[in-house]
Amino acid sequence: MLVLGGGFAGIGAAQKLHKSDVDVVLVDKNDYHTFQPLLYQVATGLLEQPAVGHPVRDLFHGQDNARLHKDRVTAIDLDAREVQFAELEPLGYDFLVLGLGAEVNFFGVQGAAEHGFPLYTLPDAVRLKNHVLGLWEAADKDRKLIDDGALNVVVVGGGPTGVETAGALAELYTGSFKKDYPDLPADAGRILLVEAGPEIFSMFKPDIREYAVKALTERGVEVRAGEVVESITPLRVTLKSGEELKAHTLVWGAGLQGNALVQSLGLELERGNRIGVDAELRVPSHPEVFAVGDIAAITDAKTQQVLPQLGSVALQSGEHVGETIARLVEGKEAKPFKYHDKGTMAAIGRGSAVVQMLGGRTMKGKLAAAAWMTVHLALLPTNESRAKAVVDWAGAGFTHQRSGRITVDT
Ligand SMILES: Cc1cc2nc3c(=O)[nH]c(=O)nc-3n(C[C@H](O)[C@H](O)[C@H](O)COP(=O)(O)OP(=O)(O)OC[C@H]3O[C@@H](n4cnc5c(N)ncnc54)[C@H](O)[C@@H]3O)c2cc1C
Repeated sequence: MLVLGGGFAGIGAAQKLHKSDVDVVLVDKNDYHTFQPLLYQVATGLLEQPAVGHPVRDLFHGQDNARLHKDRVTAIDLDAREVQFAELEPLGYDFLVLGLGAEVNFFGVQGAAEHGFPLYTLPDAVRLKNHVLGLWEAADKDRKLIDDGALNVVVVGGGPTGVETAGALAELYTGSFKKDYPDLPADAGRILLVEAGPEIFSMFKPDIREYAVKALTERGVEVRAGEVVESITPLRVTLKSGEELKAHTLVWGAGLQGNALVQSLGLELERGNRIGVDAELRVPSHPEVFAVGDIAAITDAKTQQVLPQLGSVALQSGEHVGETIARLVEGKEAKPFKYHDKGTMAAIGRGSAVVQMLGGRTMKGKLAAAAWMTVHLALLPTNESRAKAVVDWAGAGFTHQRSGRITVDT
């Protein structure tokens, strides 16, 4: 069995086969598993890289039937049942699990791909952090840069990624940077959150939306809903209204699409370039191929809605496919996937989070932050990583020391 991708979905599938009579081969282009929900904390120096990047080989030390390769998938031929890689020889399979995740969608906005800072991978987070730190150091030496908007950041997208990043950047600016650069004016940099829709957090109920705007505004974020970014240059962001914002940093948190490889599979794709799957998470016309996590458009059996691209959907769908393959090799039937909704949630800043439960009940503030932590700890791949996360997250939460705000030149 071949698993492509070592995210929540791929790891979940491979680990569920630990007791099965199956040879598992997992391939990922990285030698680490990324915990995407906290990338924004790496980008703002609150957590260091190992807190969100876990060595993927660690996760299979006790699993004798699993082998890992660090390599990039370059082509997948579903009819020939063969996968090609940048370096490895092509591999065939009896079962294939597609867990290659999603990638950024810039929606064709002029200059976004060249000058924007997406936040989907660990290198994205480190790149953004280094860029922002570099701008503050430059402004410390040349104040004219402040007038040119060098320290302003435009964050695009009023969903969880945009809100979390804007909130964390504001706390970095008003917390650490205020003390790091005492000679720079207190209002040296603005954080603007731009959302095309009429409101931020459109997936949440009105009380959560109001709370989020208030929490962001209190932290100094300027929320600009109903504004569309039209073009980006390295130093300016132009809105559709014609307004030009001075900003040397644009963080793109506005959209995702299925991994580019899906376009070569010869499959009809769903919205956002995701692979539509049946109730057992199989790909049409290929019962030996499963798609899980962000790459898949999985319809919730309960609501008949396509499930959102979330860590818990990825982990549960991956685990379900692992269990399904274990059943199939034992000659049993596959079972349909049932998603256990743990709520939609996001963190806005220190002690400030929001949660919306399946029935519509909402939580805000510290209680929601505790719920966020509980649900996200469950996404971590090992007990050791959970124990480490409790220490890292609690430490970051209590001390608020952004010890990751250093740039290391190599
Ligand atoms: C900034 C951000 C914040 C988020 N916050 C939350 C949150 O708070 N809560 C939540 O539940 N969800 C959150 N999510 C969503 C969640 O992280 C994703 O839904 C989840 O990671 C999807 O898991 P996956 O396994 O499908 O894909 P991924 O985690 O993306 O894993 C895909 C894997 O495939 C590998 N890969 C890709 N292309 C290739 C290739 N060509 N060759 C080899 N390997 C390849 C990648 O290296 C990666 O390891 C967030 C996402 C982002 C980006």
